[in-house]
Amino acid sequence: MISHPRQLAARLFPRPWRPALVLALLLTACSAAFAQRIALTFDDGLDPRKQPQAAEWNAALLNALDAAKVQAMLFPAGRVVDSPQGLALVRQWAEQGHLIGNHTYAHRNFASPRVSLPDFTADVMAAEALFRQLPGWTRRLRFPYLKEGDGADKRDGMRDWMALHDYRSGGVSISTSDWYYSERFAAWRKKHPKADAGKMRDAYLAHLWSRAQYYDGLARKVLGRSPAHVLLLHTNEINAAFLPEVIALFRERGWEIVAPEEAFEDPLYKQQIDTLPAGEGVVWAVARRAGRPGLRYPAEDGLYEKARLDRLGF
Ligand SMILES: [Zn+2]
Repeated sequence: MISHPRQLAARLFPRPWRPALVLALLLTACSAAFAQRIALTFDDGLDPRKQPQAAEWNAALLNALDAAKVQAMLFPAGRVVDSPQGLALVRQWAEQGHLIGNHTYAHRNFASPRVSLPDFTADVMAAEALFRQLPGWTRRLRFPYLKEGDGADKRDGMRDWMALHDYRSGGVSISTSDWYYSERFAAWRKKHPKADAGKMRDAYLAHLWSRAQYYDGLARKVLGRSPAHVLLLHTNEINAAFLPEVIALFRERGWEIVAPEEAFEDPLYKQQIDTLPAGEGVVWAVARRAGRPGLRYPAEDGLYEKARLDRLGF
């Protein structure tokens, strides 16, 4: 049995082949220079009227980003943050060098037949009115629930409207059910305020890593390359608790965390994908258009995570 890598190398590469081994190692080292890139984005914002710990969680998220020297992008939903205290928390992101995008005011589902194109564009403009004075303001639209229209008229009408109003896409390549983990974490925390959260942290990190691996693998299959990724997270309790570990997880595994605008430069986010209903994560939508079998729908949902968290006792 060969247990040591050096023994394995000796077997695979007899002495005259050693230069080949050196070359292989060099190539591996070079490919590390082209590691996966990922930008962090956070949706929704916090509501101090309903979330007593809003200011504390906001500070935890910003401190984690600052300590790790990461620039992120916040996509606040107008109705969530539209109070003097809520807007003050959004302002802290802008003043600390993060970008602020548009996630609409009322956070409606554009795939609903009840939401018309004029309703939806009015809602985008209402959010812009709230945030456009902020230093990090950027005309990028993140569709609520990643839903970009239930019919071709709405989908294409919205694309025309965005082009006319100089809006670019705030698309996502890796979505996760971080919101579901956060709900379960919050419920468990309430019952066990002093308990060690290590098992929850590990389950959450494993979940994020598995979704990142899945979407990066899917991208390699359908695009033939690893794009600059955009990760969708939310401004919630679980990220306030574990964001330093989330950042460390990606870095330890060789992923580079890049600025949001660097990631959005990837041509992936400029694609106009003709799926219906339109939207979801961009890699998912490309895979669906390519007819790739086995894609789950909805792509990321709490229902896929429930059994695992039940088993762990959270
Ligand atoms: Zn949202």
